[in-house]
Amino acid sequence: MSVRVRFAPSPTGFVHIGSLRTALYNYLFAMKNNGEYILRVEDTDRTRLVEGAVEGMLDAMKWAGVNHVEGPCLGEKGEVLQIGNFGPYVQSERLELYGKYAEQLLEAGKAYYCFCDRERLEKVREAQKAEGQTAKYDGHCRNISLEDARKRVAAGEPHVVRLRLPENREITFDDAVRGVVTFNTDELDDQVLMKQDGFPTYHMAVIVDDHLMGITHVIRGEEWLSSTPKHVYLYEAFGWEAPQFVHLPNILNIEKKKLSKRQGDVAVEDFKVKGYLPEALINYVALVGWSPEDNSEKMTMAEMIEKFSLDRVSKSGGVFDVNKLNWMNGLYIKEMDLDALTELCIPYFVEKGYVLENEIEAKRDFMKTITKLSQDSMNYLAEVTNLVPMFIGETVEPENEETLEMLKIEEAPVVISCFKTLVEGTETVDQAFASTVMKAIQKETGVKGKNLFMPVRAAISGQLHGPDLVAIIELLGKDLLIKRLEHTLKTIGK
Ligand code: GLU
Repeated sequence: MSVRVRFAPSPTGFVHIGSLRTALYNYLFAMKNNGEYILRVEDTDRTRLVEGAVEGMLDAMKWAGVNHVEGPCLGEKGEVLQIGNFGPYVQSERLELYGKYAEQLLEAGKAYYCFCDRERLEKVREAQKAEGQTAKYDGHCRNISLEDARKRVAAGEPHVVRLRLPENREITFDDAVRGVVTFNTDELDDQVLMKQDGFPTYHMAVIVDDHLMGITHVIRGEEWLSSTPKHVYLYEAFGWEAPQFVHLPNILNIEKKKLSKRQGDVAVEDFKVKGYLPEALINYVALVGWSPEDNSEKMTMAEMIEKFSLDRVSKSGGVFDVNKLNWMNGLYIKEMDLDALTELCIPYFVEKGYVLENEIEAKRDFMKTITKLSQDSMNYLAEVTNLVPMFIGETVEPENEETLEMLKIEEAPVVISCFKTLVEGTETVDQAFASTVMKAIQKETGVKGKNLFMPVRAAISGQLHGPDLVAIIELLGKDLLIKRLEHTLKTIGK
């Protein structure tokens, strides 16, 4: 039987990094096994609907390069198209189906109508809590005959449909990551399958859809593990074969707590906006909870597909460490062709207001130079503009005490004055001038090493660290250099 897996997100308005990993593992597993990777939208919780969320999610997955060929896809005008033979792939468009299958369970006595209202359920829950029991449905409507229940339904009485779980029965399944898992039905609730609004719950819809869509492996987050015995029982109740379950470990932050939005960036969209490269992001995310046999870290998608296997997915939580992601992203940035990298960086110059839309062509060389100077130290693309302030403005001030001290050393005035004279004497400050001028100052003044380089660096950039000095000199050019050197000499009283 050929492998068919699905990524089944609920459109909540953003794609959590954990969802990206779930999607990616499904994708890698499908590709590795020459199988099919499907996307299905699970939007049965009408209270959590967010406008535009489906489009946003499809966009994020496309950006990340985790591409499905079956399911809702974005058309040329950004519209959602459904592609594939098992559609529709959006649960709110499949409502009739769920009703039909609920009917089947009711007829077979595997499900029952429940008429308990919110108030009663609340009371039962409170009472159970007061007695130190786990809150669950008390079975009040379990024994209403189907005939009586149907009459009440026909009369318009509000109702839900619940799963009738057998009492005190062990339910066991073999999870590909966690091994054999057993639950007793007494620990479980008679799950609501159909809600009052006529919509199925997640539990009902997921079983019907996974079955009808021919899903062979359900690869999803660990938070669904405790629901799985109900799912296994539902397969049995329908007389269907259950898929292989695969529960992925939670993603934790560096304090080993569950990664949540409160602690900073967790959405794929956030990383995209900051300028993480999709190749780097998925490469890093793949390693949060999985490692290949040869322990490689930097991998292309094709390499990850080749190396992927479920038996190397870890049982314990994977740690998402943004410093490690930065390191990985930095590796990808360093390897990029400068022109291509500059192209990706342009929007960040524009966004910061350093370059106007209509200046992009005129300032391309400037942006390219800044990009080149930043390439080896950038964690993500938004950082490309960090260097810009160093190159604008006629004067710079020493950024801290240490920099000021460097301008006060004995050799500083003579070195800076000599530099100024040489700049004034040259026609243009080009690469040839910039790369030889320091030697020339050394020759004139006899100063060398740190006491030569640091005062110059401090005088023209206001900092003791930063990109290559030759590059700074060349980029500043004659006029700005003279102005900055004059200003510094005044600052130090010379
Ligand atoms: N819709 C569920 C979610 O948002 C999917 C769970 C599953 O894959 O079964 O996580």
